[in-house]
Formats: sequence, C-alpha cells, structure tokens
Amino acid sequence: MDNIKLLEKVKKQKTKFIIVTGGVCSSLGKGILVSSLGVLLKNSGYTVSVAKWDPYLNVDPGTMSPLVHGEVFVTDDGAETDLDLGHYERILDIRLNKDSSVSSGQIYQEVLNGEREGKYLGKDIQVIPDVINIIKNRLFNFAINHNTDFVLIEIGGTVGDIEGGIFLEAVRQIKIDLDEHKLMHAHLSLVPYLEWAHEIKTKPTQHSVIALKHLGLIPDTLFLRTDYPTTDKIKEKLSIGCGVKKELIFDALTVKNIPEIFVNLNNQDVNTRIQEFFNIKKIKQANLKDWQNLLNIIKSEKKLVNIALVAKYVGNNDPYISIIKALESAGNYNKVKINLEILEAEKLEKLSEKEIKKVFSKIDGIVVPGGFDKRGIEGKILAAKYARENNIPYLGLCLGMQIMLIEFARNILKLKDASSTEFDKNTKNPVICLIEEQKNIKNKGGTMRLGAYKCDLLLGSMAQKIYNKKDILERHRHRYEFNNKYKKEFENKGIIFSGTYKKENLVEISEIKDHKFMIGSQFHPEFLSTFLHPHPLFREFIKVAKE
Ligand code: GLN
Repeated sequence: MDNIKLLEKVKKQKTKFIIVTGGVCSSLGKGILVSSLGVLLKNSGYTVSVAKWDPYLNVDPGTMSPLVHGEVFVTDDGAETDLDLGHYERILDIRLNKDSSVSSGQIYQEVLNGEREGKYLGKDIQVIPDVINIIKNRLFNFAINHNTDFVLIEIGGTVGDIEGGIFLEAVRQIKIDLDEHKLMHAHLSLVPYLEWAHEIKTKPTQHSVIALKHLGLIPDTLFLRTDYPTTDKIKEKLSIGCGVKKELIFDALTVKNIPEIFVNLNNQDVNTRIQEFFNIKKIKQANLKDWQNLLNIIKSEKKLVNIALVAKYVGNNDPYISIIKALESAGNYNKVKINLEILEAEKLEKLSEKEIKKVFSKIDGIVVPGGFDKRGIEGKILAAKYARENNIPYLGLCLGMQIMLIEFARNILKLKDASSTEFDKNTKNPVICLIEEQKNIKNKGGTMRLGAYKCDLLLGSMAQKIYNKKDILERHRHRYEFNNKYKKEFENKGIIFSGTYKKENLVEISEIKDHKFMIGSQFHPEFLSTFLHPHPLFREFIKVAKE
C-alpha cells in the first residue's frame, strides 16, 4: 500500500508516537529511557510497541562482532537484532519481532531491490523522497500492524552523525504528516558536571539541539542525563536556549538500579506531562508496585552467590548482557545477590589442574555461554569437566551445551578426540556437527537456525520438572547440532536428552543424571528472561547454586 493510504489509516487510529533521539555522545541510555517511558505508559494501562532504527549500513547486527556491537539479540521470528530490543523485552515484558529492528542497511537494500525490479519506472532514485518514503512506509505499517496506544521509536547513534540523517529527515516529515500532538520528539542529552568548576554544563545539550534545528527539528521534550539532579535555573536556561517548554525538561538521573529510573521519572510527573502533551483528557497514573517490590528486594541485604561466566570476551560485558540480566533477575527471585566473575576461557587453558581448582574454589555455579569459533574452547571444556566432577551447578547455553557433551564424550565415553566440526573439521568423533541443511550454506547473514522452535520435554526429567510443562518454545541462534549417531552411547553412560525438536529429531536439552544441576540447552533461554519474570532454567540454576 502506498504511503498516502497508509497515513490515512494511521491518522484514523488512536496511536500516538514518541521518537527518542540522543545528543552529545553515545551510551547515554536511550534504550533504557525508551523502555522506561514504555513502563510508565504500560503501567498506566496503555498498550505500547517499540522499535529501534539503527543508522549503520549492516542489514542486521548478526554479522557484527559482539565486542564491537554487543550481544546479538534474537526474536521469536528469527531476526538477529540490536541488544536494545533485549532491553525493551526484558523491561516491558513484551515480545517483539523483526519489524522492531530497522537499519539503514535494510532501508537501502529495499530501495536497491526495488530499483533492480524496475519499480522506479526509469526515474532517478533520491534520498528525498525515495529513501525517506521507505522509512515512513515501515513506520506506518508498524503502527497499523501493532495498533497500540503508543509507538515508541529509538533512533540509534548521536544527532549530528551523518548516517542518522535519513531517520531524522523522516521524523521531520512525519511530524508534518500527522496531526498536531500525535508525535512527541524526546531528546536525551548529556549535561556533564565539571568537578573543577563545581558546575553542571548546559552547552553540549544546547549544541546538540542546534544540530537538530539544522535538520528542521525542535524537540518537544528534553531528558538530561546527569549524575546530579539539575536545578530550576538550569532547566530555565535550557528552555530558553533550546526552545523547549520548561515543564517538559526532565532529569534522567544516573542511578544504580534500573527500576529506580521509572520511579524517578514518575516523581517528576513525566507520565502526566506526556499525556497532557497528547491532549489526553483523562490522565492516568502509573502503578509501579511490582517495580517498587523488586527495588526493595534489590536493595535488601542478601547472601552472595558466586557465579562464574566462562567467556570468550572479557572487559566489556555487552556481549553477555541478556545472560547477566537473567542471572540478576534469578538472583532477585531467589533473594540472593549474584557476584559474577567473568573468567577468560583462553586463560584457563594454561592452568594446571591444581590452579583450576583454586580458580573455582569459591564458585557456586558455572555458566558457559554461547559463542562461535575455536578460541577459548578448551578452557570451557575444562570448566565443564570441573563442574561435572565436583557436582557444581552448570548451565550451558547453546555452545555451552555442546561443550558439556564434548567434555562428556572425551572423559566418560573415552572418545579422546571428540569435538565439534566447527573446531576440528577432521575429528574422528564429531559429536557436534552440521545437519544436512546447513552444509551447503555459503552466505553468513541470517542463515543459522534462528528464532523460536518447539521443544518437547521428557516426562520426569529435571528440565521437565523445572518448566513444569510438556513442551516449550525457545529461541535459537546456531548452526551446529548434537550428532544423533552417538545418542545411545551417551545415554548408556548417564546423559539424559530431556528436550527434543521432534520434527527434525534434534537434541534441544541435555542433562547429567545424578548431578545436582548440569543442564545444557541448544537454545538461548536468556532471551526470554525478563526483570519481573526470570526464566525457569536460570531460576532453578541459582536456587541450586545457593544451597
Ligand atoms: N557456534 C555454535 C553453533 O553455531 C554455537 C552457537 C551459539 O552458541 N550461539 O552451533
């Protein structure tokens, strides 16, 4: 459908739009702000949907290094997305799909595919209107398909970046297209405190708003990212300097715990001001009781549980953000505090057995996360061996399950060279290997086993008792699978294959009989764990680890 017809439809529905941009620098927490606004609105009884527009030219982050771009988050429909979608889902307890993850790469790809198909009828293709029209088309379709009270859009990057220009131009046009008070542009910007001058500075924010003005945009509201509460005087100065109403300028205060952000914003009446902006007559208040309860638990004195994450990347935690959040939530659920030690797998490889013992001596539970390629594999195998031999709770996530089975094959089945064909193409014992469909795939992007698959649980197994269900849907992102040729051998020695994707007879969950908790999943349970509803596998893992 063309944009004119779509716009007519959008105008007839109740949906209001909030667009969030960021100024001065990155890492200000736009994703968290978008989620927080969502919490206030959702907890006031409104329906919300969220999307992220990313300025990079990659079609999706699936092929980007987790060290550069953080974790690749996966939705039910198999989209490989930015980690911000994880924030939205975890905080808002909603399920998103591929429509929530838009990149410049996708937009240009759509334009160029159209060009190759002859859709532009001999016309020259231009950024305005052709590229912008694709963005508008995406937004209108998104609003129509979701039909929620509010659509929240986060624009990635920082205002002033050349890449983000197309999205900001789209916002400028949509603001004109829509009736007044149907779209709110919120700008999150840094107001740094200069220690040596004892002063909070407004100039960087003023400049980032000037950058917006150059693009024809004046934000409707400002959120000031600040380590200290700002004053009325500062807000007045920014109101005059930027042309934003003073009552629509709020502090986005740096806090320790995410739920504090919602409480803080609510205390500044953000929720009320937003509803007033949209001319909503019956202003609703947000019920933050569940979050307040969670906050009380987070802040209370709790027993420490030491969890080791045996990782490929150490230093920046973004590659493991969903796992870390799932562990924290499971900790709160079990009323314990998680002390996370991130151990570099590669370093473990150089240690003697005695040194390994020392490293893990105070550890209550071991997590081996997902990962690709060979680096650190042997270190992860050592960690799995330690967990198995010492009855330490072990949770293997995707690669972590493969590692658990390779270790078992080597040390219990005595298949000394057992491996995955991902790490050793010529191994005589490929206990993990590619299934036929994956063998001929050449392109890297979007070609793995991705998204939600049904998994049948084995009655009476530990996994089945934990989930307390017959079957489950869990999200995947991998190429390699357990090799069923070895199934009997494993079972004879004490492995229980407790979850199966029946349609293709693929192993989804493995556990070790007579172990406190040694479970591996071929899927990623961390993607379905939320702040208020931690995932059952994480919940139980921490429960056993704390005992
Ligand atoms: N590299 C493994 C595979 O592709 C595991 C992937 C993962 O842990 N996400 O099967």
